[in-house]
Amino acid sequence: MTITAPHTDTHSATSTPLVDALEQLRDAAAALDIDEGSVQLLSQARREISVGVPLRRDDGTVEVFRGYRVQHNFTRGPAKGGVRFAPSVDLDEVRALAMWMTWKCALVDLPYGGAKGGVAIDPRRYSDAEIERVTRRYTSEILPVIGPDRDIPAPDVGTDERTMAWMMDTFSVSSGFTVQSVVTGKPVALGGSLGRATSTSRGVALVALAALERRGIAPRNASAAVQGFGKVGRHAARFLAEAGVRVVAVSDQYGAVLAPDGLDVEALAAHVDATGSVVGFAAADALDADELLRLEVTLLVPAAVEGVIHEGNVGGVRARIIVEGANGPVTTAADAHLAARDVLVVPDILANAGGVIVSYFEWVQAKQTYRWSLDTVESRLRERMLGAWDAVSTEQTTAGGTLREAAMRIAVARVLDAHRNRGLYP
Ligand code: GLU
Repeated sequence: MTITAPHTDTHSATSTPLVDALEQLRDAAAALDIDEGSVQLLSQARREISVGVPLRRDDGTVEVFRGYRVQHNFTRGPAKGGVRFAPSVDLDEVRALAMWMTWKCALVDLPYGGAKGGVAIDPRRYSDAEIERVTRRYTSEILPVIGPDRDIPAPDVGTDERTMAWMMDTFSVSSGFTVQSVVTGKPVALGGSLGRATSTSRGVALVALAALERRGIAPRNASAAVQGFGKVGRHAARFLAEAGVRVVAVSDQYGAVLAPDGLDVEALAAHVDATGSVVGFAAADALDADELLRLEVTLLVPAAVEGVIHEGNVGGVRARIIVEGANGPVTTAADAHLAARDVLVVPDILANAGGVIVSYFEWVQAKQTYRWSLDTVESRLRERMLGAWDAVSTEQTTAGGTLREAAMRIAVARVLDAHRNRGLYP
């Protein structure tokens, strides 16, 4: 295990998640008139850990992956955030994602800071047994910095409730007793919360409908395109369709499908369960995945990964509202372009906060050793999401800027307020 000194390069000209995240922070700091020392405090991760993760493959050979856990901030409470298994994972990406978790948790007023972890591995190329061994070894390497009151991991791209079960088990075995509150997004059988699996999508749909209302568009007159059909996109498409929105196109990493009169999202989900992809769905036409971003739709929901709407393709985006199901799907340059064209962008730290909100409920339930009903979870999720939407909308109307700038001002001010109240040690 190595604990590296936090390092932040703020001078790169190319748009990367970290460059964008730092620029968003600088903008908020300028609007809030925050001093340079505080900006530096918030620009850098509080703690970063980089670990080697050796795997004994099923054939007996050994491969070593790089893993990370970055705790951007834990001034408002334990660090919180997902673990990503993807080939693109590197320290800077994890730093950006950890910083966004700090703002997200503050915006929806959870008693958490922000963290993120990841392993640079393509999980599709390894067997279940190999992924289990990678998960357990990664967990044991980051064991000193996680825990129910230190840092609570959760699923993200390439990980799921099974990954969380292995993480919980590894942590529990090393503690000598069962510790349910060390991770969230667990299977319900292990203390996972009812409603957690669909919570991010519920939140996305709730704010998408609020954004439609703000633009005076009835759901039945709206169309939507959803990029990604994983944990977020799949249920977001379903909830939007249930609300009366015509979901005309959906994509995944293999391709996209289009049905101008509206997709049967349930039938599409069954097709994906059977084949592993949206491609080949009989009741729709094939569509180039990049084309999906250029469709003339009311709502565009990028629910895959960061940086998909950028300077190079934003000119072709014809949606009226973009709801960021993923973290960081719209780059800073694209954001400015969309704002100039009055495209309403509901930012990630608001739009996809439903996941971490129900993670918080799961952690509270584990700490209380008491289960909430699905109704309780969903009504409290709704209350928090719509409360945050109202706060961000009001901030934007009264103080100006984009919804992202308004959300950032609220979040950064809350984190800084916590710092000021705690004071600087020593
Ligand atoms: N990975 C999710 C996110 O980016 C959930 C994090 C959590 O529940 O801690 O918000």
